[in-house]
Amino acid sequence: MFKEEHKAYLDQKHDVMKINIFIDGEELTPSTGNYSERRDPGDEDRVIGLVADGSKDVGAAVDAARRAFDRDAGGWVSDYRLRARVLYKAAELLRQNLDFFAETESLFVGKTIRTSRSSDVPRAAEILEFYAGLADKILGTSQILRTGDLVAVVKQPVGVVAAITPWNFPLVIMCRQVAPALAAGCTVVTKPASLTPASAFEFAKILTKAGAPKGVFNVVTGSGETVGSSLVKSDKVDAVNFTGETSTGRWIMEQAAGSLKRVILELGGKNPNIVFEDADLERAATAVTYGAYANNGESCAAGSRLLVHSNVKQKFIEMVVERVRRMRVGYQLDEKTDLGPLVSRKQLESVLEYVGAAASEGLNIVYGGNRLTESFYARGNYMQPTVIVDTPRESKLFQEEIFGPVLTVTEFRDEDEAVELANATLYGLAAGVWSNDVGKAVRVAEKIKAGAVWVNTYYTLPVEMPWGGFKQSGLGRNNTVHAIEHYLEHKGIYVDNQQGPMRPYYRLVLG
Ligand code: NDP
Repeated sequence: MFKEEHKAYLDQKHDVMKINIFIDGEELTPSTGNYSERRDPGDEDRVIGLVADGSKDVGAAVDAARRAFDRDAGGWVSDYRLRARVLYKAAELLRQNLDFFAETESLFVGKTIRTSRSSDVPRAAEILEFYAGLADKILGTSQILRTGDLVAVVKQPVGVVAAITPWNFPLVIMCRQVAPALAAGCTVVTKPASLTPASAFEFAKILTKAGAPKGVFNVVTGSGETVGSSLVKSDKVDAVNFTGETSTGRWIMEQAAGSLKRVILELGGKNPNIVFEDADLERAATAVTYGAYANNGESCAAGSRLLVHSNVKQKFIEMVVERVRRMRVGYQLDEKTDLGPLVSRKQLESVLEYVGAAASEGLNIVYGGNRLTESFYARGNYMQPTVIVDTPRESKLFQEEIFGPVLTVTEFRDEDEAVELANATLYGLAAGVWSNDVGKAVRVAEKIKAGAVWVNTYYTLPVEMPWGGFKQSGLGRNNTVHAIEHYLEHKGIYVDNQQGPMRPYYRLVLG
């Protein structure tokens, strides 16, 4: 399966990126003086990054963000036009540096360069532009009451926001979290995932170049247990936006309760793609394959559970497997690669453990299931795309997020059973429905307990589409015009417009 041409990519030299922390408008070396090595997911023999241990710098970063907010640094809090200009400019700079960001993202995550170039980086830029356009449209309301008094509702930024991000879409998810916060006039401290911190650090430079005043955007790299946890517990942080595992989200919510800060959580997913017998099966097979294996299946949005009507099950599985067979597993920077290496050896082992569990549960692995070790594959975290059929709802593989290139298949006999199976996990992030009967598709979409339902498509997630989960997939929504509300306080200002004697109710107190 290994192609000789992959060797050329593996032999290409990459500079080792030094990923420092970024505080108060400046790149700094960490106070600990320590760096950890990040290895190439496609070639574990090679170091691609040295990542600063910022565990002793969280206080300084939060103080910088706090100061910038409280003192309205450079007019950031009060000047909405400035914020709009900076975010537009940052989007422009991101596009100008598209190749650099795409390569960095792919190199660290293991996702294919085609994905980073055509999807991740442009989407990140779009998100910035979308919220740039909102920065000067944060409107309050005002009303003259029956009494003649005035009530004005003004919206003010909530303060310092901590953004804690996962490793699978480091740039897009960070922009989804920080763009509305910045547009609202907040200041930010970001903690990127330890495995993929490069794009956040590089983005800080871009935002500064775009004109963000000092202290508005800070990045502290380091582990979740140290940097992440200090941010969540800090009294000087007003809100946390976290994307990651459900178990981490639960812990964050508990910790944030100490200072009653706002919490927005985007967590795991175990998303069903439901294919009815009257669907356009050709289109559905392509989208189901894409939904399961895009981003190496390492996606909260992965359509990792195929639910298919029993009448078309066999035919549809063959159609999917035929597409899976054509997928090229390879180095992430190779333009021809469809499935890159998994992000780390640990992640690969975890996914293979699930496949092992499938084997011991007696499930039928109809395609893949193995790590690739032939020739240069041995150097990275490569595995075959995997299809497992007849997966019952009690199975661990049906219930748990695998976060790798594994698709399970379960059949249903009617609409009710499809909905029941779709809702039979503790997650509720996304779902796909495939049918040419619009009435049925809409009925099913309505009954599915998930934050996003795609009908006759999968994975299209523009900033106009809300993103977040029902049940244990999260709390609150990112994307859309509404997300900005997470970062705004509503303040009522009541103006008494009476003249002459005080109103009767004052007499209750004053006699
Ligand atoms: P984790 O929950 O392990 O980590 C996410 C981030 O939280 C990382 O930056 C991590 O740091 C940090 N972190 C870990 N422990 C703590 C802690 N105690 N306090 C504060 N921060 C902490 O998730 P992964 O990075 O492994 O990402 C995969 C998960 O993210 C999957 O479950 C996936 O479904 C979910 N996800 C959800 C999305 C959604 O939109 N709903 C989108 C993308 C992913 P460190 O890296 O140092 O461990």
